[in-house]
Amino acid sequence: MKDGYGRTIDYLRISITDRCNLRCTYCMPEEGIPCLAHGDILTYEEIETICRAMAQIGLKHVRITGGEPLVRRQCWRLVEKLRRIPRLQTVTLTTNGILLAQYAQQLVEAGLDGVNISLDTLDADAYREVTRCGDVSRVLAGLEEMQKYPQVTVKVNCVLGGKKWEHTARSVAGLAKEYPVHVRFIERMPLADDGIQGCAQDDVLAALEAAYGAAQPCEKPMGFGPSTYVQFTGFLGKIGFISAVSHKFCADCNRIRLTADGKLRLCLQSDRMVDLRALVRGGHTGELIPTVQEALAHKPQAHCFEQHGIETACMSQIGG
Ligand code: SAM
Ligand code: SF4
Repeated sequence: MKDGYGRTIDYLRISITDRCNLRCTYCMPEEGIPCLAHGDILTYEEIETICRAMAQIGLKHVRITGGEPLVRRQCWRLVEKLRRIPRLQTVTLTTNGILLAQYAQQLVEAGLDGVNISLDTLDADAYREVTRCGDVSRVLAGLEEMQKYPQVTVKVNCVLGGKKWEHTARSVAGLAKEYPVHVRFIERMPLADDGIQGCAQDDVLAALEAAYGAAQPCEKPMGFGPSTYVQFTGFLGKIGFISAVSHKFCADCNRIRLTADGKLRLCLQSDRMVDLRALVRGGHTGELIPTVQEALAHKPQAHCFEQHGIETACMSQIGG
């Protein structure tokens, strides 16, 4: 798939629910958000139909996200369905990890290729504060459980913030020393007005080098996303940075998003969307391919977080 600027689009992030078992301060308000009605949410079969159509025109990678994808019933059934689609190369999942230990085996047996676990701190009190209710020991149990399945790539995603960010960065990065997992620091995007300053990539790297010695840049890009990676001596996994605000990577953007209610969202920042659910439910699946192609022609050239912030009430609605 090509967009109007000639970029190859081969990656779809699918939000399968807008519900979540946490309330991270930078993602959604404490009281949560009004949830979609069950009937408005795409069924697994409808998601499969959309992905089958897109795979015919070049979709290669899908990531299941949310809200929290593991709160949706039998999430592994979707993994199984997507894994059977010809030409689709990877099916991955982003989760807060609270329910990961419970569902890891079913997800792996369904063919999951990778899991990204969101974990912003190892400190139990700080974790409860940032998530407003979470128990970090459950996330760590999920990470531990995944060690039984070395065929599945595990990454930890960390959004830093607050006064003790240097200590937090060192301890979360330390997971890549202990486990064969890649730890990525994700720059905080302007959404919730929680008054917490994000951390710049260069400052985080400097704090890590002070603790772990000089980092070696990784020559080859890893995966198909916008991260840059470095390697510390003695670490089993790599350390990555995803800095959408300070190191804008829109020129190489390869992704689009599908919301839980079946809207194709062309850019994280912009709320311009195309309703694919209407086509699927109206029996017009033959129109999916031309509709997606037409929509791609209007994918924005770049985000403008600087001017507008993200056009949504909450990141859980669009899958991060
Ligand atoms: N609930 C799952 C989780 O937390 O991994 C999946 C959905 S969550 C919206 C996906 C990712 O978006 C998480 O890694 C989360 O840290 C990130 N995220 C949410 N709000 C963000 C923000 N304002 N800036 C940067 N990342 C954010
Ligand atoms: Fe839920 Fe993920 Fe948003 Fe946290 S970041 S509130 S876990 S959707």
